[in-house]
Amino acid sequence: MWFSKSTEEIIHELSVNPETGLSTAEAQARLEKYGQNKLKGKPKKSTLELFFAQLQDMLIYVLLGAAVITIAVGEWVDAIIILMVVFLNATIGVIQESKAEKAIEALEKMTTPRSLVRRDGEVREINSEDVVAGDIVILDAGRYVPADLRLIESANLQIEESALTGESLPTEKNAKDLHEDPKTPIGEKSNMAFMSTLATYGRGEGVVIATAMETEIGKIATILDEDIDSMTPLQKRLEELGKTLGYIAIAITVVMLVIALVQDRPLFEMFLTAISLAVAAIPEGLPAIVAIVLALGVTRMSRINAIVRKLPAVETLGSVNIICSDKTGTLTQNKMTVVKFYTAGNLTNVATEGRSFAAQNTDEKELIRSFVLCSDATYENGKSTGDPTEVALVVLAEKYDMERRKLHKEHKRVGEKPFDSDRKLMSTLNQDENGYRVHTKGALDNILKISSTALVDGKVVSLTEEMKEDYLKVAEKMSDDALRVLGAAFKDTNSIINPEEMEEDLTVVGLVGMIDPPRLEVKDSIAKAKGAGITPVMITGDHKNTAVAIAKELGIASSLEQSITGSEIDELSEEEFLRKIKNYRVFARVSPEHKVKIVKAFQFHGNIVSMTGDGVNDAPALKIADIGVAMGITGTDVSKGASDMILTDDNFTTIVHAIEEGRNIYNNIKKSVIFLLSCNLGEVVAIFLAVLFNWPLPLLATQILWINLITDSFPAIALGIDPGDKDVMSKEPRKPKDSFFAHGAGQRAIIGGTLIGILTLVAFYFGLAEFGYSLNSKDIPEHVITNARTMAFVVLAGAQLFFSFSMRSMHKSVFRIGLFSNMYLVGAVILGFILQLGVITIPAFANAFKVQNLSVYDWGLVMLFSIVPFIVNEVSKLFMKESEI
Ligand code: ATP
Repeated sequence: MWFSKSTEEIIHELSVNPETGLSTAEAQARLEKYGQNKLKGKPKKSTLELFFAQLQDMLIYVLLGAAVITIAVGEWVDAIIILMVVFLNATIGVIQESKAEKAIEALEKMTTPRSLVRRDGEVREINSEDVVAGDIVILDAGRYVPADLRLIESANLQIEESALTGESLPTEKNAKDLHEDPKTPIGEKSNMAFMSTLATYGRGEGVVIATAMETEIGKIATILDEDIDSMTPLQKRLEELGKTLGYIAIAITVVMLVIALVQDRPLFEMFLTAISLAVAAIPEGLPAIVAIVLALGVTRMSRINAIVRKLPAVETLGSVNIICSDKTGTLTQNKMTVVKFYTAGNLTNVATEGRSFAAQNTDEKELIRSFVLCSDATYENGKSTGDPTEVALVVLAEKYDMERRKLHKEHKRVGEKPFDSDRKLMSTLNQDENGYRVHTKGALDNILKISSTALVDGKVVSLTEEMKEDYLKVAEKMSDDALRVLGAAFKDTNSIINPEEMEEDLTVVGLVGMIDPPRLEVKDSIAKAKGAGITPVMITGDHKNTAVAIAKELGIASSLEQSITGSEIDELSEEEFLRKIKNYRVFARVSPEHKVKIVKAFQFHGNIVSMTGDGVNDAPALKIADIGVAMGITGTDVSKGASDMILTDDNFTTIVHAIEEGRNIYNNIKKSVIFLLSCNLGEVVAIFLAVLFNWPLPLLATQILWINLITDSFPAIALGIDPGDKDVMSKEPRKPKDSFFAHGAGQRAIIGGTLIGILTLVAFYFGLAEFGYSLNSKDIPEHVITNARTMAFVVLAGAQLFFSFSMRSMHKSVFRIGLFSNMYLVGAVILGFILQLGVITIPAFANAFKVQNLSVYDWGLVMLFSIVPFIVNEVSKLFMKESEI
């Protein structure tokens, strides 16, 4: 039993030296022998299952019904074509779905949790799947435990084990505990950490004793793929629309059959008509096309460093009108450098390059020593690990010839109270010459609150109000210059004390000011966001003045009045805060729970809010925000798990790019859908008018199916990957409630569709008229009908193909966008015409689809008709107001 053995025994058993960890070669060998550290998920659906899943669809039922009817009336060829279409549709569906799934899987891979392990003597971050038994794993707050561990070191480590035990309160862990009782329940094994649980506080180190299915969670194997609802609201609405159209189609079929019976019309013909109408009403290719466009879109977004974790986010992105962003690392470079420090009465400037220098007095030495001992970061041979704020402190010490490694060796750490963003403090207890010393660093205001004395010229003196003011004044001045200020304090004790007792009665030593330059590209992105009707807002744990100074530099805020601190928020009543929130652009000194309050207040006014976060406590805010954005580099596993999108470069600019991309993807889906629906409308109009006026049927069901599934699909996909509109970021965000058919899109579909339908009938009429028949003639010979139907068939396909160009923008002329700026569409339209030509000239196809080749004159005529809807649509755009364009 691992939990009843001493750490020495375990280390021996697993042949690893905790100081250096495994060697790369050994880890590799173990990985090959025992396999990856992965839990087996639900078995994947087989291709056959996927195929049958495709058939469970309202639209397919209608088609299968049609096939049965055609068989019943003896139209074998039609039945075969319909069945082939069903088969083809399901096959395409399977291909699209697995393609989309692969794209999503690839994205998931990019966000698989990573673990800190010690290998070859250094700490490395590796994919959790590559962790092997014997690895030394380092845990810190916010990280998932990658495998089952026997802890060998712990500092206030708390782990939330609800995945395993159902208990949501974190349990305290202690590496030194031993449990003799072999029946110790999992929840009480305080010297162990289990796979898939979450470190919420403190630090620890453990040796991996089991991986993958050997772990406790693997044994009970209850986790498994959460079935996240990955349909976007739009897809859901489209599914509803599809269903409704399916029901309408069935209803129409029934009604028409009843009419046929009542009026005593030929039943067979009515069957055919009913099926044609049903087929015409249903956009068969739509769900697959939307899925693939979304998948292509998210893949494209991953290339610009935005990984979409939840598909609905793509749609919501387009509506975001407030971006709440952390400051450090997202708006700034997170490359901290100490440029000034202050001890009682002495302000020192630090040269940014090279070593320093000035002989230090005791206070300065003490200041640097406290900062270094109270830091976990390392900096060796120009390479650093850990929090950039702490790296800056360690680098400062190097400059003053105070080596971190040496200091830590001489003053071994025996206790600590880790940093958290609520207290904004961190403390450690280190051995000292005459006992122990607490070193505390953090926000200066908080340091002053817990200090009663100060260090002045090496002596500890009472901390007077004047001295406090003096420190604050210096800090304020630094903050105004956009410096991040950090204070340090200490206290001596005779014995080891608990973390709870550390942060009281301290002696202030002084403070440092560090620069963290804004990211260069962010200023432009902020201007771009503002131009797109989006308000950028800064939310930071940092000091108000520092935050405002940077916000001003970046163009987020223009004055101090636009800022508020966390404690000022607490003083306001809920209503007041709701009322005033619109005035603020900078929220400083906030803790994670303020973030929730801020998001809710903005949402109260109907805003769509995106919020960034990286810490353990940020998860609630990320979940509540419309778009929760986690940081890929500095973010904890928890924040990533709670987010909708992850920025792989932690950069604000990426959020703005993602919004732009989100707007484009939505617009493109809209173009595809409106295009497909206007085509369907055209078909319905043609058939419906024919039924209404008792004309011969201008199109057969199989012909309509061919167009819906073959000729139309290519332009629809090409529209889905249309290059983004250059002006997409000069428009206001889309209102989430806006219907798909808003802003003239519905009208365009109706006008376009009706025109296509009428022109199809006109072509049909011309086809009949060439042989001296009219729409009302009786007993028209078969070859005349076939000729007329072929003309209608080609016009229907051709008009839709040409019309697709016009769908690239609802308002702008396609000539303005550039006829050839989407070569996929050009290719798709050419392909569509080739296929159309093929089907009427290749005899086998022509027979099956009951069409025939056309004369040159007829070709000219159908081409002329085909281009009309495109021209009408383009001309109507000329009459649009400039403001609408
Ligand atoms: P943002 O929320 O924009 O990322 P931030 O990084 O300043 O801003 P926090 O990390 O919550 O936010 O830090 C808040 C404050 O806590 C800082 O202004 C600083 O005073 C203090 N602080 C930050 N890091 C440490 C640390 N490692 N040890 C002690 N105090 C720290």
